[in-house]
Amino acid sequence: MNIYGLTKEDIGEYCVSKGEKPFKSTQIFEWLYRQKVRSFEEMTNIKKSFLEILKSDFNLKLLDVKTRQESSDGTIKYLFELADGNLIETVLMNHNYGYSVCVTSEVGCNMGCAFCASGMKKKIRNLEAYEMVLQVLSVSVLENIRVSHIVVMGIGEPFDNYDNVIKFLKIVNDPKGLEIGARHISVSTCGVVPKIYEYANFDLQVNLAISLHAPNNKIRNEIMPINRAYDINELVEAISFYIEKTNSRVTIEYILLDGINDTPSCAHELANLLNGLNVYINLIPYNEVIEKPYKRSKKENMKAFFDILKKRGMNVTLRKEQGGDIDAACGQLRSKHIK
Ligand code: SAH
Repeated sequence: MNIYGLTKEDIGEYCVSKGEKPFKSTQIFEWLYRQKVRSFEEMTNIKKSFLEILKSDFNLKLLDVKTRQESSDGTIKYLFELADGNLIETVLMNHNYGYSVCVTSEVGCNMGCAFCASGMKKKIRNLEAYEMVLQVLSVSVLENIRVSHIVVMGIGEPFDNYDNVIKFLKIVNDPKGLEIGARHISVSTCGVVPKIYEYANFDLQVNLAISLHAPNNKIRNEIMPINRAYDINELVEAISFYIEKTNSRVTIEYILLDGINDTPSCAHELANLLNGLNVYINLIPYNEVIEKPYKRSKKENMKAFFDILKKRGMNVTLRKEQGGDIDAACGQLRSKHIK
């Protein structure tokens, strides 16, 4: 068992099983995530005998750093080595509103999106909750910063590792721990429809982002295989259900690919598709991947696409990218290392 994979309630149960009071879990949580202690001895309000038990059951190891790259805009990309030798990447972004960590949820990915570097390596396994928690904690300790935002947008499909991701969200959100507000966390899915319905019942109000990337089935089938399992109409229906159920806004991610999904007619089709839904459309310049044929849309086409959506009354932004000079885009670092 890894201590960073336990919720405060789990640690409470553990304490009781060792003959301790359940509220000890609050103290332990504070040591782990507030003080971020690197040894059990630093937990000064825990008695010696219980410390010995903790020490024999757990360790406080952070993730092993394989490489650390810093980009000119301050974005930092870590390649971490897991206990079984698998490599994962984690990105730290410095925004004007605070530090944001982009968390990886799986080793590799099975979704096979045609434009994405991550999917060039099939999924080897899910990440455990502790391996996601440790990405955030390791970066925070190594850079000596407070992380205020999390996006689950690294390698992997979080809704293909649903239970561990939910556990991870509970741990990082805990007010006695890292205390990252649910509104400061975003989970992004390529459209695993049944899990969107399940997620609508999750009691934390964590932001949901959907990688849509196409305005119709024809284009989406070509670039995102998941669309053949759950098509765009089922997806929009699930999004609509989620918005009603949680009374919240959903982010729609849309990568602009030159000549594929960036025409004025695509923009109109997208506006028709999402018309009336409480969504926020994030247009994303594509980060080109050497092994893939796709190109970033031309500046004037991105602008025209944006203008049409704006004119149609949609809530839309054109994202500026970060970390482009250090392969901080989506699986590129890991795929370089294991070639
Ligand atoms: N599997 C999840 C989360 C990981 S990908 C999902 O699909 O949402 C995070 C986002 O980066 C997704 O919107 C994905 O489509 C996008 N992405 C993948 N490769 C990209 C690239 N080369 N340039 C820009 N965005 C990319």
